Amino acid sequence: MQIAIDGPSGAGKSTIAKALAKELNFIYIDTGAMYRTVGLFALNKNIDIPNEPERVEECLDEINLLVKYGEDGTQHMILNGEDVTGKIRTPEVSIAASNVAVLPAVRLKLVDLQRLQAAKSDVIMDGRDVGTYVLPDAEIKIFLTATVEDRAMRRYIELKEKNVATSYEEVLEDMKFRDKNDSSRAFAPLKAADDAVVVDTTGNTLEQSVEELRNLVLSKMKGEA
Ligand code: C5P
Repeated sequence: MQIAIDGPSGAGKSTIAKALAKELNFIYIDTGAMYRTVGLFALNKNIDIPNEPERVEECLDEINLLVKYGEDGTQHMILNGEDVTGKIRTPEVSIAASNVAVLPAVRLKLVDLQRLQAAKSDVIMDGRDVGTYVLPDAEIKIFLTATVEDRAMRRYIELKEKNVATSYEEVLEDMKFRDKNDSSRAFAPLKAADDAVVVDTTGNTLEQSVEELRNLVLSKMKGEA
């Protein structure tokens, strides 16, 4: 079974998807982590991504990406043998991920990997184009959204807790930039699939959103919704 959860940054997709995957005993696949890993690789190579996209495309074959799961089910990203899971959550990598994500060659490489992972077991996959492009036949599709201010505040609090030096204004600008970049790209942009259920989490606590999605998924699985 495949469950696709898409939506803009900071809508709570990963936390909710993780919680549901644990409960349902599904594998959770975080596709954003894959774009982040390619973004990190490009940053490490000092590539100015928006101005030198051809350099990213040229070195794609040098990128060996592996997805591994820890004992607790946490997804780890292995880039050319190095576990970079802890390095891909910075604001700088967020922007780089969004910039590499507009390149069709990058998307095609990562979509292959995502489909391979999905073929192995029951999955909950989150991203931007899972319901529209990666897994168009997913049995359940959800598009999770919230106002940009709400999403920025949640992400800011999260980053603060991880001691990442940033301000609310910086996170808000980053969020707006990524929303625009993700929605306006030509290939597989961020958008709700026609058959997705749209859930707006503005004003919800995380627990409320998890509960709402759990009810939705369970009733869909029983064929009620
Ligand atoms: O989900 P996350 O914020 O970690 O994703 C980082 C970036 O990767 C997004 O801003 C988006 O540009 C890109 N992405 C994408 N398609 C996906 C997942 C993420 O373009 N399926």
